[in-house]
Amino acid sequence: MLSDTAIAAKIAPGIAQLQPYQPGKPLSELERELGIRDSIKLASNENPLGCSPAARAALQCGIDQVARYPDGGGFALRQALAAHHRVGSDWITLGNGSNDLLDMIARVFLYPGRESLFSQYAFAVYPISSQAVGATLSIAPAHDYGHHLTAMAERVTANTGVVWIANPNNPTGTHLSGEQLYPFLAALPREVIVVIDEAYIEYAAGAHPDATQWLPEFPNLIVTRTFSKAYGLAGLRIGYSLSHPAIAELLNRVRQPFNANALAQAAALAALGDQAFIAASVALNRAGMEQLQAGFTALGLCYIPSKGNFIALDLGRPAAAIDQALLREGCITRPIAGYGLPNHLRISIGSEAENARLLTTLAGLLAPC
Ligand SMILES: *Cc1c(COP(=O)(O)O)cnc(C)c1O
Repeated sequence: MLSDTAIAAKIAPGIAQLQPYQPGKPLSELERELGIRDSIKLASNENPLGCSPAARAALQCGIDQVARYPDGGGFALRQALAAHHRVGSDWITLGNGSNDLLDMIARVFLYPGRESLFSQYAFAVYPISSQAVGATLSIAPAHDYGHHLTAMAERVTANTGVVWIANPNNPTGTHLSGEQLYPFLAALPREVIVVIDEAYIEYAAGAHPDATQWLPEFPNLIVTRTFSKAYGLAGLRIGYSLSHPAIAELLNRVRQPFNANALAQAAALAALGDQAFIAASVALNRAGMEQLQAGFTALGLCYIPSKGNFIALDLGRPAAAIDQALLREGCITRPIAGYGLPNHLRISIGSEAENARLLTTLAGLLAPC
């Protein structure tokens, strides 16, 4: 706490109301706290397969170069991403995780008097990055836990700076089809920036539009992607955006010179080349999703249908007690009361064994004794 109110009174507008993002606890810390071992973490939507062996090999090689600054322009990785997405490399901006890009976008396009528009149950970083730069939050009510695009469109004003949409959405797993999303984009004024956050797009392939297809048509569109989820590189912090080069040039003005570290660039480049690993990860996720859904249904529990690598389970009563009981049994999941969903737990899809353990533990806790 700042005891010096003179200092507290001088902080930037927006920071006073801000609460720090609450990350899931690391396994080691939780095990220490509870005095338990062999716990499973299904709390942060990480890949149960780890990362591609090619990425591991690239990390080994990269260690020799850590005394050097990374390539601040991210040349090789941006070239590879450009080829992967069939755009010019000047459409790619690298970030220290895709959260870094969300922050850059807020800094370029939001400021006091401007509105930041997103949905109820949207990703927590949108309000944090927006408030940090003093923008006004505009929150549209959700429909069935997902984006209600009509309600969002109605909230667009002359002051709207950025519209944020995660597709699929975290923490609900809901998704928007191309038929829903395209008319919304087409109707937005071209001076309003729209961010489509595709952190989970790999898991939704087939059932899903890939917003990068609309980049040539919409100069106000920014699509963000990450290596943290399906690529299994969350600990390295690497993500990127795709946008018109004019937007990328603006983002580069506020980008820290070496925001994408050397090991992250090397691992991401290798990981991008191993699409078989992505296919295996997506297949494992699909099987795990079915396993968990069937298990929840057998327990008489409802859940929000999800296109991500996680599922928001509805316990039908405040989830905090079950969350604590799961923790004591070594199962870490994510309470999402902070998102306005006090009865839900967000459970990441794990390996088959992890999913089975979660289900067995949950069954034991819910059973009348
Ligand atoms: C996990 C996640 C991200 C990715 O964050 P990184 O900074 O790339 O690790 C972005 N958006 C959403 C909605 C997420 O859930």
